[in-house]
Amino acid sequence: MLGPVLLAASRSAAIRRIVSGAPVTRPMVDRFVAGERLAESMASVRGLTSRGLEVTLDHLGEDVTDPSEALRSRDAYLALTEALAGEGLGARAEMSVKLSAFGQALPGGHDLALANVTPVVEAAAEAGTTVTLDMEDHTTVDSTLAILGELRTRFPQTGAVVQSYLFRTEDDCRALAGEGSRVRLVKGAYNEPASVAYQDKREVDRAFVRCLKILMSGEGYPMIGSHDPRMVAIAQDLAHRLGRKKDEYEFQMLYGIRPAEQERLVAEGHRIRVYVPYGTDWYGYFMRRLAERPANLAFFLRSLVGR
Ligand code: FAD
Repeated sequence: MLGPVLLAASRSAAIRRIVSGAPVTRPMVDRFVAGERLAESMASVRGLTSRGLEVTLDHLGEDVTDPSEALRSRDAYLALTEALAGEGLGARAEMSVKLSAFGQALPGGHDLALANVTPVVEAAAEAGTTVTLDMEDHTTVDSTLAILGELRTRFPQTGAVVQSYLFRTEDDCRALAGEGSRVRLVKGAYNEPASVAYQDKREVDRAFVRCLKILMSGEGYPMIGSHDPRMVAIAQDLAHRLGRKKDEYEFQMLYGIRPAEQERLVAEGHRIRVYVPYGTDWYGYFMRRLAERPANLAFFLRSLVGR
């Protein structure tokens, strides 16, 4: 029940001010966010990659309200690309972008987001790495997949994300399971209406397995974005049965969530990529992490009341 309330709060300016201003918020945020500055995120990148993990960097920001902010997002990603090129990690360190940070929701936003993200994808390719387009709420899916299609004509390695909670996603998986495609499958993190998305967690899980089967039997490169031990085990089993080698798919998990499991998968010889968010605009990301797990919220509220 609390999840939808928190997800609604993630888009409230008033609650943003209260949560962001509370001194106890910071330690909780630090659990999920690598730091506010690029230098701090690079320290995390070095720590994770030295232990055999791969990374995808997210410069936090979403829902920009004017074109100049969208340009600032683009520039932040260009600076990130340069920093990653300096680390020499190639595709072991890639980037994840939210098109709403590139202006997708503004008037003329589809073209604006494509124009702003293209230089980032070009710079990533020059640096020997790539970009994955995060998926946001369901109203953006058509635009995001169309932008993906445009980008993939020149940069076929550009990654997509699909969310198993949406009814449409099995069809999207079929369309995206072709050779060369890189697709991250997740359950979905937004507050979606019953007209477009499964509301029951078990239905979302069942849909995740159906999508996993489509992607694993396809010719692309599946990226399993989940901390759920059942989904991880099913993916391993499917890969084994379908004869996929360990370098023909990867697991992905979020920074700060189930780090022991991340290390265990590496020790077993799996590819695992950690999603590393950094930057000052952490509010929406943080609230979605609280919404996913009541225990996180309980811990946060106890800190708020000083216990
Ligand atoms: P759940 O059933 O939610 O959780 C399974 C177990 O994982 C829990 O029992 C708990 O042990 C652990 N866990 C899960 N969440 C948390 C948490 N917040 N804190 C602590 N423990 C937790 N969603 C999108 O809509 N668009 C995206 O582009 C997107 N990108 C993602 C990228 C990556 C790499 C990952 C891992 C997730 C991404 N998500 C994205 C979020 C995703 O949709 C889910 O909301 C999130 O992963 C929780 O679902 P789950 O599969 O981990 O399973």
